[in-house]
Formats: sequence, C-alpha cells, structure tokens
Amino acid sequence: MAEKVKKTKYIFVTGGVVSSLGKGIAASSIGLLLKSRGLNVRMMKCDPYINVDPGTMNPFQHGEVFVLDDGSETDLDLGHYERFLDYSLNRFSNITSGQIYDAVIQRERKGGYLGATVQVIPHITNEIKSRIRLLAATPEPADVVIIEIGGTVGDIESLPFLEAIRQMALEEENEDTLFIHLTLIPYIEGSGELKTKPTQHSVKALREIGVDADILICRSPLPLTREVKKKIGLFCNVPPEAVIQDLDMETIYELPIQFHKELLDNLMVHYLKLLCKDLDYSEWVSMVHNLKNPEHKVKIGICGKYIDLRDAYKSIIESFIHAGCANKADVELVWVSSELISEDGPEAHLSDIDGLLVPGGFGERGIEGKIDAIKYVRENNIPFLGICLGLQCAVIEYARNVAGFEDANSSEFDNKSPHPVIHLMDEQKDITDKGATMRLGSYPCKITPGSLAQKLYNTLKIDERHRHRYEVNNEYRDKLNKEGLEFSGISPDGKLVEIIELPSHPFFIAGQFHPELKSRPMRPHPLFAGLVKAAVNFKGGKIPTAKKIRESIK
Ligand code: GLN
Repeated sequence: MAEKVKKTKYIFVTGGVVSSLGKGIAASSIGLLLKSRGLNVRMMKCDPYINVDPGTMNPFQHGEVFVLDDGSETDLDLGHYERFLDYSLNRFSNITSGQIYDAVIQRERKGGYLGATVQVIPHITNEIKSRIRLLAATPEPADVVIIEIGGTVGDIESLPFLEAIRQMALEEENEDTLFIHLTLIPYIEGSGELKTKPTQHSVKALREIGVDADILICRSPLPLTREVKKKIGLFCNVPPEAVIQDLDMETIYELPIQFHKELLDNLMVHYLKLLCKDLDYSEWVSMVHNLKNPEHKVKIGICGKYIDLRDAYKSIIESFIHAGCANKADVELVWVSSELISEDGPEAHLSDIDGLLVPGGFGERGIEGKIDAIKYVRENNIPFLGICLGLQCAVIEYARNVAGFEDANSSEFDNKSPHPVIHLMDEQKDITDKGATMRLGSYPCKITPGSLAQKLYNTLKIDERHRHRYEVNNEYRDKLNKEGLEFSGISPDGKLVEIIELPSHPFFIAGQFHPELKSRPMRPHPLFAGLVKAAVNFKGGKIPTAKKIRESIK
C-alpha cells in the first residue's frame, strides 16, 4: 500500500442555482469515497446565519437540530456526515457566522486587536480560516478536510466564507485545495432539452469572487450526455470529465456509487495528488443492495406536530431506513398529526399501522393527541417506541389511565397539575437563557438486567445523546412501578429515568434521549431495529391485534 500523505488537503463544496440540491449528501458521499480509499477524512459545515447555533431556531425554519456527543447543537447536515462516514463529530465541525463574529468581538473587547480597525477582511476571514485549520490539525493532521459552505452562491451572507476559502487556496499549495460546485441542470419540457445556462451563471458568480470551480456536480433529471458535459465544461472552464452527473437515486445511500461510476474519486485523487489505496466499499454496496431488495413491508405511524416538515425528523427517517435494511423490511412511514388524533380519535388514523413512534418535541400543542395515540397502541398491543417527549407522554398516559392519577401532566404543559409526573430538572430551575442550556449531549445509562432494553442493546451500560429540560418526577417512580411501568434505564447516580418499558406489552419502550442521532446505515440503532422487527412480527400475526382478539371473541 502506498504511503499516506503528510499534508492536509482541503475540498471546498459550494452550491449554486437553487438551495436544497443535496449539498450535504453530496459532500458526505465524497467523504465516504475518500474514506473508502483509506484516507483519514474530516467533515465541516460553515453556516452563514448569525445564530450561534441552530438550537434556538424553530424546526419549521431550520429542520432538525443534530446534537453531537459533546452536546453541541448543530446543522442537520452533520447527521449525514456521521451516517455516511460512520464517525462521531465534535463542535469543531460546525461553524456559524454567529460563532465567528462572537469570537472576534470578544477578542476585540479584550484588546486582542489593539490599535486596529476590526473588519470582515482580514479579521472575520482569518477567524474562519483558523477554525478550518484547527479542525484539520486536531487531534492529529487529517489527510483530507471537506468543508461545505452553506447557502447558495450569490447570497450576501456567505460572502465572508467564500472569501476565506479563496484566500486559503492562495495560501496553500495549488495541489492542496479543490473546489467542487454543486449545480442544477433543469430539463425544459417544451424544447425537450437540458439547460446549462443557470450553471454557467452560477460558475461565473463564483469566479467573480475569485473562486474557480475545479469539479462540477450537476443535479439533473436526465443523464448528462457526453455532448452536454462538453458544453458545460467549455463554458465553465473545466474538462468534460470534471462534470459529474448527480441523478436522483432510489436512496441517498446510492449516491457514492453513482459518483464512483462517474470516476469522481479518481478525479479528486488525481487533482489533489493523494497517495492512497484503491476504493474498497463493498460493505456499503451490499448495504445498498439490501436496502433496495426488502422482503417485508410494514407501516409505522409517526405521531408528531411538525409532520408537514420532514426535515424536522430527518434522523428519525434515516434511522427507519437503517432499521428496515437490517430487518429486510420496507418501512412505510405514516405521518399522523397529533392534533388530528385529538379531533378524530386514534382509531381513525392508527388502525392500519404495525408500529408507532412518538418523537421528541416542545410545547403543549398536540400533546393530548400523542397521549391518546399511546393509549391506543398500549391497549392494542401495537409495538411502540417513544423518544424524549414520547417517553414523557407515555408516562403521563400510564399515570392517568392505569395508575389513576387523573390529572397527571408535565409541568411544561400544566404547571398547576396536581400530579406533575414529568417536571423540570433541578439543574434547569434557575436557567433563564435559552441558547445551549438544555441537558445536551451524551450521558451514560445503566440498564436493568433481564429487561427488553437489555435484550435490544445486548449490554448493561449505554451512552445516548440528550436534548431536553424535563424529566420523570422521582416522587412517582415507586407508584408507577407498582402499577407495572418498569424503569429499565437509569442514570448511573440513580437520579434520572432514561428508559421506560411495559413488561406486560409485546413491545413498548421509550427513551429520554434521542436514539435517532446514533443510528448508522450499517449499525442501525437497537431501539429502531427492535421496533421494526416487532412491527414485522405484529404484521405477520405473531402478536395478536386487538381487532383479532375482538374477532376471536365473537
Ligand atoms: N419538551 C421536552 C423537554 O424539554 C422534550 C424535549 C424533546 O423531546 N427533545 O424535556
């Protein structure tokens, strides 16, 4: 095998024409290909917004907040990076304009620039470059760092980032930086043609700020012919081989395979003069094959309040794809608005499902519908997984309907409830700031031997990622336990409930954490894999449905 490179190489990924072209998935696919050639690859996302992190944004604005082990709240593209490259990122992998300006202003107040006028160039751009180089060097120099620039070329907000990467290309050796630009080639029905003009304009806009794209990745609804590639290459100043086709795939996990067929990894290795081995990603290819050839089909209901915005549940959707792949099952997700469940009753929306997931969330709206949905699956033996707020709703439901605490609630929704079975954590009581103040990041949890949790995880000690302020009220632990609710995962100090389950039910389990943040294509999360397996059994009739029980009584 060839010797590894000594110097870090930088790949900058920018996007043009329109947003939502799948830049994060393209960057992740590039990362996977280089990792599969034996290189040590690190990923980074630069977000141009002024928020310090996305933690304070509404999911409708930003989609899911992806929480890392170290507790940082980051962009959902980091979820793609972790899933494709199968490594755990840290806070250095996501920078925002808010963080950059914050650091520069704090340094200015301390006198760090004494005598100077502090400006976007060089102070902001220097801060950006030093963050990129810090990631490249820590803990040891990476072979390649892939930096995705958020937004679309032409946006005012992203200019300092583009200027910073332009400077980096000047400062580094020519063969140590590479610019990849993702664009759209629309198809115009009337003329029956793929149109290259928007791409030409986007590359031109990039060139005006001093950045020359080396490789173009072109999203298009039809394959790019040699002629089209030649035309794009001619107008955009790249050889036709550097025009890479990016067609819609059946699954996002197929994109690296498409890129490899387009010889993208060879091209990057050639441009960056990387010393590395041949591509070895056979496990990935067989995972994609399994994903595309399921043997079963199950329907899983997801009962939430942001269901019109799928980006709010990105990692959950991916976790079901991983869990489906592991169980050879095609998992159809049935999105059910919790408010509709309150209006129409659960039977109207859930009678057809083989399993239910109640995800995390904030605020009172839709809560009663979630509680009704959980009651329905508990009474009908339908497999259930609750996540964070989903656990809290399951505890409220059990307290109200089984343990007899009629007005049980969470103090998040009713701070006068006589039975606050869910309440604010002690360490949250004096906090007034909203940014980065929840219980965030990875915490250990001890599992009860013999529980469903142990069976699924196959271990007695786990670590999971958190993002919440409320928890199960310990005053009610004994009472609920006596009524049959098992607290099968507890923090090592015994103070916080992490997992609940119902031994009297075929599959009823919930976690106070977010398992979806740790599921990977080839290492599905045990709770998701367990739910899908239980759903396959449920559908196969191995678990009697309430309907079947009722029919058999007739
Ligand atoms: N709103 C709840 C809390 O803060 C649940 C949070 C979540 O589901 N992530 O505890």
